[in-house]
Amino acid sequence: MVLLQVQSLSKRFGETPAVDDLNIDIDSGESLVLLGPSGCGKSTLLRMIAGFETPDRGCIRLSGQDITHIPAHQRQTNMMFQSYALFPHLDVAGNVGFGLKQAGLARAHIAKEVGALLDLVSLQGFQRRRISELSGGQRQRVALARALARKPKLLLLDEPLGALDKSLRMETQAELLRLRQTLGLTMLIVTHDQDEAMVLGDRIAVMRAGRFEQVGTPREIYEEPANRFVAGFCGETNLIEGVVGWNEIVSSLGTFYAPRGLAKGTKVTLALRPEAIRVGTTGRVSGTLQAQAYLGDITYLTVACNGGETLKVMQTNAGSASTEFKPGSQVWLDFDGRALRVLTD
Ligand code: ATP
Repeated sequence: MVLLQVQSLSKRFGETPAVDDLNIDIDSGESLVLLGPSGCGKSTLLRMIAGFETPDRGCIRLSGQDITHIPAHQRQTNMMFQSYALFPHLDVAGNVGFGLKQAGLARAHIAKEVGALLDLVSLQGFQRRRISELSGGQRQRVALARALARKPKLLLLDEPLGALDKSLRMETQAELLRLRQTLGLTMLIVTHDQDEAMVLGDRIAVMRAGRFEQVGTPREIYEEPANRFVAGFCGETNLIEGVVGWNEIVSSLGTFYAPRGLAKGTKVTLALRPEAIRVGTTGRVSGTLQAQAYLGDITYLTVACNGGETLKVMQTNAGSASTEFKPGSQVWLDFDGRALRVLTD
């Protein structure tokens, strides 16, 4: 069932189209991630859905109801900001229960709800703590509990984990996924971190300059990128120029079958993920190992191919599978031609 519908939504700031004629539906219980570089319009889209920004054109519906011009506090959405925006003069219980108090609920009821919410975010017994006495991760969870207090139909999260270090970030991602499962949350999450997008999103909408470049599952985005921008933005990739011949694509890495429907002479880009390439003593193309970085579980290698390309390669270090080479050595690279994605724009 569709919960949120965004239809032909646009917003300009002066000459800049921050959000440019966007359409998207979000299903109830779905988690959609907006991923894109700084300034591409992610926050503006989120803020319009939350009611903090007025669209120039278009329509936003929640459960079928047009909410485009309904004030933020009357929408059944709630937004959690990167900065948490906690009230420093209130303690944890005061922060989490703020919206419930505003709504005029009885004290005992609020206390019970706040207790349950703090349980949910693993902050049992933190009611009387001051905000200044909390770690970054704890503040983040207080903000999450507060955002959940009014039981929003749609939870909007703007870079929710941006301020956390890597391990806390992973822990909190797991926490969010658990909460989502328990509460059946529908979430719209803004991030510019592609790993986070893959972990948290049922679908990812990759944005550039106010538009969606591609909307799809993490697997679709990664394995079937629609264009160079998506391929380059989501994960490491090698982009190699090629040109369509009679039936084949000719490139510095060799000749490959061309997909149907591409006219002779069409310029294409071949995208090849580093993990799809193996380094060895035989293969399709030869080159010189320029550098390698051993990261424990994986090793990153850079190979200058004799055909002119420099390729990034990723090897997993499980067991004795990988062979060691020294920078400067001649190596061969091998890959399955089916791992190549042919991109036309
Ligand atoms: P970031 O990841 O850096 O937060 P973003 O993708 O969320 O970026 P937005 O904050 O939505 O991007 O901004 C989109 C564009 O609109 C940018 O060019 C930005 O400078 C511009 N913009 C956003 N808010 C305003 C504003 N209040 N006044 C003028 N321009 C704005």
